[in-house]
Amino acid sequence: MMKRFLSIGECMVEMAPAAGGDFRMGFAGDTLNTAWYARRELGNDWDVAYFTAVGDDAISARMVDFFDGSDIKTDLIRRMPGRTVGLYLIQLDNGERSFAYWRSESAARRLADDADILRSGLATADLIYFSGITVAILPPSGRQTLFAAIAEARANGATIAFDPNLRPRLWEDADTMRAAVMDAAAVSDILLPSFEDEAFVFGDRDTKDTARRYSGRGVPIVVVKNGPGEMLALDRGTIRTFKPEPVTSVVDTTAAGDSFNAAFLASYLRSGDLPPALASGANLAARVIGQRGALVDG
Ligand code: ADP
Repeated sequence: MMKRFLSIGECMVEMAPAAGGDFRMGFAGDTLNTAWYARRELGNDWDVAYFTAVGDDAISARMVDFFDGSDIKTDLIRRMPGRTVGLYLIQLDNGERSFAYWRSESAARRLADDADILRSGLATADLIYFSGITVAILPPSGRQTLFAAIAEARANGATIAFDPNLRPRLWEDADTMRAAVMDAAAVSDILLPSFEDEAFVFGDRDTKDTARRYSGRGVPIVVVKNGPGEMLALDRGTIRTFKPEPVTSVVDTTAAGDSFNAAFLASYLRSGDLPPALASGANLAARVIGQRGALVDG
């Protein structure tokens, strides 16, 4: 029986600096990056699908073509009349990257508008993956609809994985962000936070603090990523640590966490064993940060 890895969120048009002052167009977004890497990491017994909403214009069609070309299933993607997708532009100033976003009116913000479509879409999944960015872009009512649909899918047997991916600027205020992220954790089986973000937003002193805060909301497995530092995994009360191999030439850390999540989940879904899954996540992330761009082949 074919199983389904379903990622929920927003993919955007990416305009990245190229030679001669030109910009090169691509497509990226945290949950899409994870779906893209999951497609490479999972075997043929898994479908990888993306749940989002796009517009009905030419660039939306090109984005969906890109998913199809990447073997990411598009059957659950809604096309919303009169709308379009979000866009971001990367600028380079003395080697430092800065980002400008045009996403406030993107179709993806409506992805949870129709509770029935969301529920029936999620019912097709064995593993559901979403992030704090998925939650942040939704209106408050959409967040509640999403949590209810995920809770229902979980009650029916789906495994839920969540990366808080904390981005304070996407949220109306810090209290709302903290409350919504803890609510998302409460419907999840596997939490994949990054310590630096968690320490900044929640004041955690160490990775153990982060893991305990989420397991206190009933999350069975928490994996706290920690850049080049030692990660900590809390598995139903058992603590494990894992130190990634040092990467000497870091080129671009974009999608380090997203790719880690994909390889970690693919391995864990296969073996149900944490140590090889941590190693697999770190291995892929190391390859991704050694090259430029979010989506790195090979
Ligand atoms: P995010 O990209 O979500 O902020 P992290 O910075 O914690 O996440 O990185 C995710 C994973 O990428 C880490 O768990 C680690 O495996 C790998 N990684 C990140 N930076 C480095 C580095 N400098 N050296 C080795 N591995 C790294």
